[in-house]
Amino acid sequence: MIDTLNIDIKKIAESKISQIDFNNIQFGKTYSDHMFTAEYENGEWKNLRIEPYEPMRISPASPALHYGISIFEGLKAYKDSEGKINIFRADKNYERLNISANRMCMPQLPEQIFFDGLHTLLELDNKWVPDVPGTSLYIRPFIFSNDDYIGIRPSERFKFMIITCPVGAYYAKPVKVKIEDHFVRAVEGGSGYCKTGCNYGPAIYPAKLAQQKGYDQLIWTDGKEHKYIEESGTMNIMFVIDGKLVTPALGDTILNGITRDSVLNVARDWGMDVEERKVPVTEVIAAIKEGRLTEAFGAGTAATIAQIELIGYKGEDFQLPAVETREFSNKVLKELDGIKLGQIEDRFGWVS
Ligand code: PMP
Repeated sequence: MIDTLNIDIKKIAESKISQIDFNNIQFGKTYSDHMFTAEYENGEWKNLRIEPYEPMRISPASPALHYGISIFEGLKAYKDSEGKINIFRADKNYERLNISANRMCMPQLPEQIFFDGLHTLLELDNKWVPDVPGTSLYIRPFIFSNDDYIGIRPSERFKFMIITCPVGAYYAKPVKVKIEDHFVRAVEGGSGYCKTGCNYGPAIYPAKLAQQKGYDQLIWTDGKEHKYIEESGTMNIMFVIDGKLVTPALGDTILNGITRDSVLNVARDWGMDVEERKVPVTEVIAAIKEGRLTEAFGAGTAATIAQIELIGYKGEDFQLPAVETREFSNKVLKELDGIKLGQIEDRFGWVS
């Protein structure tokens, strides 16, 4: 076994934790006391440190600011009834971070830096992992270009950082979504399968337009013809049609969601038929009209399962079956919550 890495630790003078009402947490408003940083320069990662969370210096010429040379991850830690901190499938986030890094001409991040940084940070800020039901600690690892050069080329210097913030239940209420048939999130050959800032900024405007029409989010369709369903907002999307779990197959345009993978694994384990394939918009609309679509939901770290109560398409709104009648998604949500909180045996080895 390799020794733990040398991480310089500078603790905060006075914790900010008393400012938090753990029964009423606002997403992304308050960050935990400390942050982790590692720097990449001349081909090596160095200067590993934990210090108080605070604004930092960055070159005004940084390509992260100008060209979106930035990638990120999102995962959660939970506190079980004995106070133990459970992190859900962090190995998958680590893998995906490096997939994104490759696409953005960034160096690979060594496994030990990711995990030692994460574990040391959580140990130090363990009081920030809430134990109120439905809450968790959101963990945001990210890498960005730290070059001081405004030209467009692969960057040479980077920062890897981890910040965390306590969160309450996010998107807990069922959502109304509109099938988008003009704007696109991702195209074949693009970067949709990565978590780079470049995919997220431009998606806000179309979502804002949909919100002005009374929807909560969009269902993205393929960038060529808008014929096939891809994702819902920043979640993967799933349907139960004729009793089968149906979800768009992965590819260039779809993020390989860890919740998606977890839901599919649980469904297969339960013996359910699972189809990962192209999902035509026309098939979904027909299945709603014929009463064969019994469930529709988003799957992502933020909400785990976000029930979809209504789908809008070309000016028509389709009400979906009542959330209480949705056997599979309600059950899979309980199952995943149970595994994360250590209440259900971790038979897949997902919690560490
Ligand atoms: N799709 C997109 C575009 C996302 O940003 C996310 C959230 N990271 C997901 C799907 C869900 O992925 P995960 O289950 O790993 O959170």
